[in-house]
Amino acid sequence: MMNDLEDTIAAISTPTGEGGIGIVRLSGKEAIRIADKIFRSKRSQSLITAKSHTIRHGQIIDSNGEVIDEVLASIFRTPNSYTKEDVVEISAHGNTVSLRRILNLTLQNGARMAERGEFTKRAFLNGRLDLTQAEAVLDAIQAKTDRALKAAVDQLGGSLSRQIHQIKDGLMKMYAHMEAFLDFPDENLEVYQNKTFLNLYESTADKIKSLVSSYAKGEILREGVLIVIVGRPNVGKSSILNTFLDRDRAIVSDIPGTTRDALEEMIELDGIPIRLVDTAGFWESDDLLQRTALERSRQYIEAGDLFLFVMDAKSGITDDDKKILSELSGKPVIPVVNKVDLMPNPVAVEEYFAISQEPCLVSAKMKSGFEELERKIVSAVWQSGISKESGSLIRLRHKRSLEISLQALQKSRESFLNRESLEIVTMDLKFSLDALREIIGEIYSEDLLDVIFKEFCIGK
Ligand code: GDP
Repeated sequence: MMNDLEDTIAAISTPTGEGGIGIVRLSGKEAIRIADKIFRSKRSQSLITAKSHTIRHGQIIDSNGEVIDEVLASIFRTPNSYTKEDVVEISAHGNTVSLRRILNLTLQNGARMAERGEFTKRAFLNGRLDLTQAEAVLDAIQAKTDRALKAAVDQLGGSLSRQIHQIKDGLMKMYAHMEAFLDFPDENLEVYQNKTFLNLYESTADKIKSLVSSYAKGEILREGVLIVIVGRPNVGKSSILNTFLDRDRAIVSDIPGTTRDALEEMIELDGIPIRLVDTAGFWESDDLLQRTALERSRQYIEAGDLFLFVMDAKSGITDDDKKILSELSGKPVIPVVNKVDLMPNPVAVEEYFAISQEPCLVSAKMKSGFEELERKIVSAVWQSGISKESGSLIRLRHKRSLEISLQALQKSRESFLNRESLEIVTMDLKFSLDALREIIGEIYSEDLLDVIFKEFCIGK
């Protein structure tokens, strides 16, 4: 991806297909001039003289004078725009044909087709967003639930940046303080006796660790949780899946590249996006066809985050149940006894206790017992000390940099405790700082930007 900020870029910023409105967006030095060349307003008002944050009504005209569409042109002048450059948004009818023709006209008049995420990349390069905020733009676009959206919007507002800056500022002070001593080697002893440094090492490490631990939560909100329903044939797995679908908001997932297995459904529980899988039919028989199914069910068992192990109230626990349960050993399982309408007090309930924890008693037929089951699922997902309130969507990239920062910090602390030369102590401090600066994009490589922005769509 080029880093050329001289070009004026253009793209269709709305999804393809029919829509009430579609938008072609331009950004760069020539944005207003290019838009003006293809735009005619009734009163022949030029866009060149339009004030920032104003909208003009008019038509898009091609080089033969043919009217392409009736549009609104919104003008945003530098630096008060998304990219901090001059931006024009042409809102036309949401028809792919007319949007493409408008885009082509902008290209014929000197714009260049934008790369994926290039508008946001410009916002970053021009200093309007830092890197965590740019990533939050993507999270906001892809958010699957209200809670994920809120976390993304918080991060866009700088929630993660503020935490990183706070940690960074503490380290900077420490670094500057130690550097000052480098010029006066005779006084080094004083540094090593300074308790504030030790306290700062501790408190900074704690802050980094707590951010690292919020990664799991970010993953849950961004990617969702995979819950796999397992059990013998006919215990009611599909019926349970369907009951969930009826009860809970099903999330439509049409993000390209995330085509899910036919047996997967997306639901939302307490703001958590959940991929729910029914392994029905996978355990049925030994014939060849089923074996592929069995293989797939094994893959789900590998990948699952949480398992609903379904049993039948009337038949009690069978050898097959035990066999299936043994496949799940060591995994987080919620035992579910279905069909309690047929047997309100399952005779074998003690047996269920004996093989695992207290089971959830449900009836898919009567749709009863599901509040309790959902409560258990939610608490199982949020367990392991993840606070569901803390607001950041830490990505793997952030986690890795935080871990590098922590490692360097701990090395620096060791050297400090061992009273090694201050050069060594401060060198590791600098590594620790640099890793933090990479998170917010104060330091970046072209490769890193490519990786981040290629996830975006064109036009964002
Ligand atoms: P699966 O093979 O585990 O997916 O089981 P199904 O969901 O296909 O259900 C098997 C049979 O049990 C069907 O005839 C369902 O109508 C019935 N069934 C499912 N849940 C219940 C329930 O809670 N009570 C009763 N009485 N029957 C149920």
